[in-house]
Amino acid sequence: MSIWKGVRFTHRFSELSSAFFTNIAPQPLDNTRWVAWNRELALQFGLPEHAGDEVLNVFSGQEDFAPFFPLAMKYAGHQFGVYNPDLGDGRGLLLAEMQHKDGTWFDIHLKGAGLTPYSRMGDGRAVLRSTVREYLCSEAMAGLGIPTTRALGMMDSDTPVYREKMEYGALLIRLAETHIRFGHFEHFFYTNQLSEQKLLADKVIEWHFPQCLAVEKPYAEMFECIVDKTAVMIAYWQAYGFAHGVMNTDNMSILGQTFDYGPFGFLDDYDPNYICNHSDYQGRYAFEQQPRVALWNLSALAHALSPLIEREDLEAALGKFEVRLSQKFSELMRAKLGLHTKVSDDGRLFETMFELLHQNKTDYTRFFRELSCLDINSPQAVIDLCIDREAASAWLDRYLARCELEVDEQGECVSVESRCAKMRQANPKYILRNYLAQLAIDKAEEGDFSEVNRLAELLKRPYDEQMEWDEYAKLPPEWGKKMEISCSS
Ligand code: AMP
Ligand code: MG
Repeated sequence: MSIWKGVRFTHRFSELSSAFFTNIAPQPLDNTRWVAWNRELALQFGLPEHAGDEVLNVFSGQEDFAPFFPLAMKYAGHQFGVYNPDLGDGRGLLLAEMQHKDGTWFDIHLKGAGLTPYSRMGDGRAVLRSTVREYLCSEAMAGLGIPTTRALGMMDSDTPVYREKMEYGALLIRLAETHIRFGHFEHFFYTNQLSEQKLLADKVIEWHFPQCLAVEKPYAEMFECIVDKTAVMIAYWQAYGFAHGVMNTDNMSILGQTFDYGPFGFLDDYDPNYICNHSDYQGRYAFEQQPRVALWNLSALAHALSPLIEREDLEAALGKFEVRLSQKFSELMRAKLGLHTKVSDDGRLFETMFELLHQNKTDYTRFFRELSCLDINSPQAVIDLCIDREAASAWLDRYLARCELEVDEQGECVSVESRCAKMRQANPKYILRNYLAQLAIDKAEEGDFSEVNRLAELLKRPYDEQMEWDEYAKLPPEWGKKMEISCSS
């Protein structure tokens, strides 16, 4: 029986004109082999739980496969604030769409597939190191419940690829409901292809925001949806301590999903000025800048959409960004602290907490996890995370006093056990720290993929106690905190 039976493919983007893409075949790598196959995700599409050569040959582009029509998308974008008209899929190809069991269609994108007309000075390849990082982080984000593109599988090869040193070419099979970026709209605007831009907007509405058709101004409504989804995504990043590193408009999905993992990083010590991208000399994309940059990017998109949407409507939608972001951020932070009711002094409690974390360079993830374990562990575990123990103790007393005021829907006091059990579902025990990714990469580069697979497995359930893997929840070593991740990938 064919292993493809029960898997449904289509390719709606390929039905658009050549203004949108170039049809181009993947250039196979030498001796391609599996590094990881995401079994859980595969089953959701009717794909086999274990992928052998047949699946590898099709997804790596070594064998023609009728449902696939590989194409490189054309887009542009603002990179570090400067408009670059020459972007597009320079090393990734959109192969087809595949249907999830719930009915949703997902793009299949093969990253590292070779040269395209948009490769510019690049070689069309992705190295193992960066492919492992994207695979692990997209799945870690999904495990945390943060909107993201997904990783179905990853392959390694014997094809040499030169970066700062000789490395090997790898392939990532990325899945996402769309690969349309802010930069797609910018491209059509700046090249004055306004009928193509309108068609793109119509398709985005048809495929992703059909509810917009029910209102008087569908395009304005579409933009408002993009603003809303972007605000929600950024709220998650800020609440969970995620820094993207390259928030260019060509790396912003119109569906508000974390997209194009490069030099990302989760906060270790709480530092609002954290810059995870070694090449970001100005700190344009520093952790605390992300909300501002997202709004800047949305304004760039608004400008590009000005032929379709009236100025007042664009401004009104942009005006909702901050409100939505702070509403979602506050909801997430309240869940992290187990404080669902609102009390007038809460703002001050939050502020002093962030001050405490900053001044004490406290580990962001561990702090919240320890707060979630006050039903089991002593408060000392929280205090020990801060250098200034007196300040930590004072804050904790205030926090615990505030917890006493917490009541459930029936107006009953919330017990410490029930508060903590819920908090553990909002505060991960395991996150993809840069040093953990690096240890997995070091082994993978020696041909041992066990660590990549173990981490991927662990990070699928970041909120659960996985006692046998306790060492992965440890605070990072000093070298792990100082890692410099460049854009080179
Ligand atoms: P990124 O920084 O990965 O978001 O990429 C920015 C642009 O450069 C996109 O148009 C990519 O397709 C392109 N690009 C990045 N790396 C390569 C490469 N090795 N070869 C060709 N194009 C690349
Ligand atoms: Mg990119």
